[in-house]
Amino acid sequence: MDLLRENVQAARRAIGAGAELVPMVKAEAYGLGMPAVVAALSGFPSPDLPWAFGVATVPEGERLRALGWSGRILVFSPATPQDFERAGSAALTLCISDVEGVRRWAAIAASLARRLSFHIEVDTGMGRAGLPWEHAAQWGADVLDAAADKLVWEGVYTHFHSADEPDLTSADEQWAKFQSAVAALPALETPLIMHTSNSAGIFRRAGYGCKLARPGIFLYGGRAGPDVEPAPVVSLRARLVLIKEVPAGSTAGYGATYRATRAERWGTLAIGYGDGVPRRLATAGGEVLLRGKRTRIIGRISMDMTTIDLTNLLEAEVGDEVTLIGESGDQRITVDEVAARCGTISYEILTGLGTRLPRIYLGEGGRPWRDPIPS
Ligand SMILES: *Cc1c(COP(=O)(O)O)cnc(C)c1O
Repeated sequence: MDLLRENVQAARRAIGAGAELVPMVKAEAYGLGMPAVVAALSGFPSPDLPWAFGVATVPEGERLRALGWSGRILVFSPATPQDFERAGSAALTLCISDVEGVRRWAAIAASLARRLSFHIEVDTGMGRAGLPWEHAAQWGADVLDAAADKLVWEGVYTHFHSADEPDLTSADEQWAKFQSAVAALPALETPLIMHTSNSAGIFRRAGYGCKLARPGIFLYGGRAGPDVEPAPVVSLRARLVLIKEVPAGSTAGYGATYRATRAERWGTLAIGYGDGVPRRLATAGGEVLLRGKRTRIIGRISMDMTTIDLTNLLEAEVGDEVTLIGESGDQRITVDEVAARCGTISYEILTGLGTRLPRIYLGEGGRPWRDPIPS
């Protein structure tokens, strides 16, 4: 949890004085576990205390409320019409991408006799959500009209599609489009809060000067663009549960895709794709760390077990800790290394970590983090 805090502070430093964050805790805080991550982040003293938390869906927002967070919760995916009422009851802040949605939200506010807040997404190229940046003058007036005195129009934002790519030209263009949209919006009594940047935008363009930003992957140990390496928050470890001496010709795993070419020594790990270890890691040259040494995965990964080569690791013993992501001795396997081997991104690896894996949270100096964690 102190590495998580380190990453929060790095993100705030990258933005500069006055920076505030909306940590994204959608998808169980990128697979790490929402209760513990939220408990840790919301326990950081100001100025590291989040300005709000970001989730994708209304049920995620309700879960966050149930965990005891009474501050702002921004729901970033367009809510289903069926979810608006629940969003109102939980006092969530909706991110809205159509005027009809603003009207619907205003109706809920009226029925609850409570002023509800919203942010408007501006589409500058992401396509999946947002009102078109070119027509901001028109929809801006309509949004204001629909909000009337029922809603608080608190913020306006956009989302970059390629801020993690080496070439930032497209992100700069999206920023220019966003600025021209904001300039065309009606002036409000309380100026709209602007936010544009995910992790990559924060570190590579200092959040484009916006003092509020929405980091996700970097907080959890995923790289935010070519050279932006976070503190490694997540480790994935399993125990060695069996060691076998096998003769030449022995086969390993479903499909018998691996065959020993000589007498070999194999180890079995109690972890598999049912825990979120990508099955294709095995055929992509996947490795693990044991007692500070790298060794390869052999054969196919099963749902519950993975076989590794111990032929040159005579010191290995049943019960040893094996690292699939993380550090061992002076060796390190990052989540980005695993993702790159599998042709995917760190986000998919982390959010794929299975519910069967016990999540062990460490506090200062590697001591157990405070217990128990509400679930
Ligand atoms: C998930 C998400 C983020 C966080 O992006 P990272 O690349 O993980 O930092 C930011 N903004 C929005 C709207 C998102 O959906």
